[in-house]
Amino acid sequence: MRKQVIAGNWKMNGTIASGSILIEAFTSFLGDKDLDCEIVVCPPFTALERAVCLTKNTQVSVGAQNMDYHDAGAFTGEVSPLMLMEVGVSYVIIGHSERREYYGETDAMVNEKIKSAFFHNLQPIVCVGESLEQREANETISFIHGQLKRALQDIPADQVEKLIIAYEPIWAIGTGKTATADQAEKVCKSIREYIAELYTPNVADLVRIQYGGSVKANNAREILSEPNIDGALVGGASLIVDEFTKIIMAAQELSN
Ligand code: PEP
Repeated sequence: MRKQVIAGNWKMNGTIASGSILIEAFTSFLGDKDLDCEIVVCPPFTALERAVCLTKNTQVSVGAQNMDYHDAGAFTGEVSPLMLMEVGVSYVIIGHSERREYYGETDAMVNEKIKSAFFHNLQPIVCVGESLEQREANETISFIHGQLKRALQDIPADQVEKLIIAYEPIWAIGTGKTATADQAEKVCKSIREYIAELYTPNVADLVRIQYGGSVKANNAREILSEPNIDGALVGGASLIVDEFTKIIMAAQELSN
């Protein structure tokens, strides 16, 4: 059985102080509950080191929201996988639609970043998803398969099976418009089938596929119950203790 993974993407929000309060609230809520799902928080770069310290010996792991794929060099403003490793980060979000839309991140860059993340033993969470125009033009599946094909180029099966793919329809991110559980499941299932086609059914069976896009406490259970959805990438609601902990508990109850 695939382990559910609930990841909180804080985006460019909060300070080291406010982030610490959030993490302390999550970790004290989780206490010594025996969790069957993975919990990840992805604060801004400046708060990563503190987040790693505060989550030591807890069930919460820390991820970055982005990284460069080079180890070091003349790349002003970027942060390398080695730097993330140095502060103790273990996950990294790659190819979030906001990175693609505002910072010109391409599938080729996503591909390099996945390779680099695996090389450095960071767990990549790779985002894919269609725009509203693409959905309305019935291009959702072909667009996402194209994104995956380019993102996974030359990545071997033994890495792909460890991947976390986040299906995040752009029209549902931060808009309060969630895809229905049925819409989300259809796309996640098609992603799994496509991985089986590109690799093997066994690889497809192992890869974890999250849904992201306005996941909240009140819709998490329905979405997470779908057979091809193995967790959620949560933006806004991951900044609210009561919301995020309820999403975690929904995943936990479904994992039992
Ligand atoms: C996200 O940032 O990946 C996201 C899904 O945001 P939200 O939950 O706020 O829609």
